[in-house]
Amino acid sequence: MRCEDLFTALVEYVDGQIDPETAAAIERHLEECPVCRLVVDNIRKTIFVYSADSTCDMPETFHEHLDGLLRDHWKARFPSSQPEDAS
Ligand SMILES: [Zn+2]
Repeated sequence: MRCEDLFTALVEYVDGQIDPETAAAIERHLEECPVCRLVVDNIRKTIFVYSADSTCDMPETFHEHLDGLLRDHWKARFPSSQPEDAS
């Protein structure tokens, strides 16, 4: 799994709607890639903040926020790689 693949799978991973095989691939990548570990750690902190703040469902803007957060991280870390251009 490459960083780009992890980026694509992360939203499902965070939602808990990912298949076990992909989740395992993500975990393996995280063991090898400190950059992605940092990104996932930030996501988990973000989720914790939302969870602690409210017992309701995630705000509708959450995925939008998460998507923007991830893209910012990737642009900063991999200036030559633009995930939104990958089809
Ligand atoms: Zn990575």
